[in-house]
Amino acid sequence: MDPAERGDLFDLVHESIVVRDLAGRITAWNAASAALYGWSADDALGRAAADLLGGEAPEADLLATGRWDGELRRRAADGRELVVEARWTLRRDATGQPREIIETARDITERRQAETALRHSEYRYRNLFQAMAASFWELDFAPVGLMLRQLRKSGVSDYAAYFAANPAFVREMIRVTEVLAVNEESVKLFGDGDASALLGPCDRFWPEGSSDVYAASVVAAVSGRPSFSRETRLRTLDGREFDAHFTACFPPESVADGKLLIGVIDISKRVLAQRQLHDLQAEFAHAARVSMLGELTASIAHEVNQPLAAISTNASAGMRWLSRAEPDLDELRGINTRVVADAQRAAAIIARVRDMAMRRTPEAQALSVNAVVEEALMFLRHESQGKGVAIDLALGADLPDVLADRTQLQQVVVNLTANAIQAMGAAEGPREIRVTTALDGDGRVAVTVSDTGPGVTPENLPRLFDSFFTTKAEGMGMGLPICRSIIETHGGAIWARNNGDGPGACFAFTLPAAHA
Ligand code: ADP
Repeated sequence: MDPAERGDLFDLVHESIVVRDLAGRITAWNAASAALYGWSADDALGRAAADLLGGEAPEADLLATGRWDGELRRRAADGRELVVEARWTLRRDATGQPREIIETARDITERRQAETALRHSEYRYRNLFQAMAASFWELDFAPVGLMLRQLRKSGVSDYAAYFAANPAFVREMIRVTEVLAVNEESVKLFGDGDASALLGPCDRFWPEGSSDVYAASVVAAVSGRPSFSRETRLRTLDGREFDAHFTACFPPESVADGKLLIGVIDISKRVLAQRQLHDLQAEFAHAARVSMLGELTASIAHEVNQPLAAISTNASAGMRWLSRAEPDLDELRGINTRVVADAQRAAAIIARVRDMAMRRTPEAQALSVNAVVEEALMFLRHESQGKGVAIDLALGADLPDVLADRTQLQQVVVNLTANAIQAMGAAEGPREIRVTTALDGDGRVAVTVSDTGPGVTPENLPRLFDSFFTTKAEGMGMGLPICRSIIETHGGAIWARNNGDGPGACFAFTLPAAHA
């Protein structure tokens, strides 16, 4: 091509145009080529293209067809690697003999780099997806999106309420959610050795009882939360249900195209361990109660004996009055009423002892803390009197009920008070226990047991609630840890301190009000 033929146009196009003769020497070089490769026309003209730029098209193709398209790796003047998308055209002379080659090219280096980066990032994501020790699922959520849009069109705006009222709708959402991909951990956890068996509708893995967790995750997704996680039960392909921790992420881009990534961790072992621990604690609490009853036998026997003795006395008096010539029926009725009341009192005491001794599952009910404290102290009345300890009760008025297991709560009060009595065993001076019930600043019911014993040494204070911590020769060191476990399972807190304004220690616990 003659320079005259090329004209200004040649320099105006954005693509690089390089013309070479059949020996490969550059005969034309436009402005875009200079910009692309960094060589000026003066540098390039007359040079062998292959030396200057690298990357050549296969000659055979070109000669056979007269054209070639493809990507070439090139080198710029400053040494940078370039990727260009090139087109070579063979020009022939009037006799049909090849004369020169025209190359047009575009820089696609950045596009290639971006593609490579994307490929790497996808590769990394796939690697992570596969290699994670947790089970990962890619779900197609788009059909659920469609259902939600229709719901909104029909006027529903409170999804949570709608889901709660329409469990069938939630089931349908779960059914139309498709599993697109799973990792190996998922196959181990849910499947039977074949990943493809897990693909398809989600409802196979989602028991009816866990539908509300799915509904809550949908609500979280549509309300723009970044993620959602909850413990729930899921089901394997062969129908076995297990405890799982389920997490879903909602990055806006993937929510927009209806793809969700969820992770599942099998927590059945942890849940089992927790259950076993809970059972163990209940057994300990029971064992401790039975041993406490053993220690308090004298006190309990005395409590039962009192009404029995009264019954016996009153019944004998009644017999005597009956043998009078004209028995006074009103008097007899009165004495009989007292016999019945005393028999009921004895029966009630025995019932409470039996409750303490029985092994049964704790059962929460609304209870008056004041009544529980009074009943518990019944077990200790004789014991404290025997040791010359006065128990002063200061019960708060109008306290709200607490939600608790009666026997366990009594056990806590008995434990704290028995410890207080024991602490004052050898103490000189006043021997007083003050049991207080009140409402604390946070609307919780607070019970304190304060004594005038020796108190707790500062180094022992942080260890009191540790299992097996005891300073007593015959002690087990399980009383306070059991109290703590009972109070904490009821949503409360328990602590100990020394009385600041006098001798002795003070143990206190709080429980949330039942209707708070
Ligand atoms: P145990 O009574 O078998 O020792 P606990 O767990 O009930 O087990 O108590 C642990 C320890 O806490 C006791 O050995 C004692 O040192 C201390 N303690 C508990 N209550 C009091 C109290 N009212 N005054 C002083 N020390 C106490």
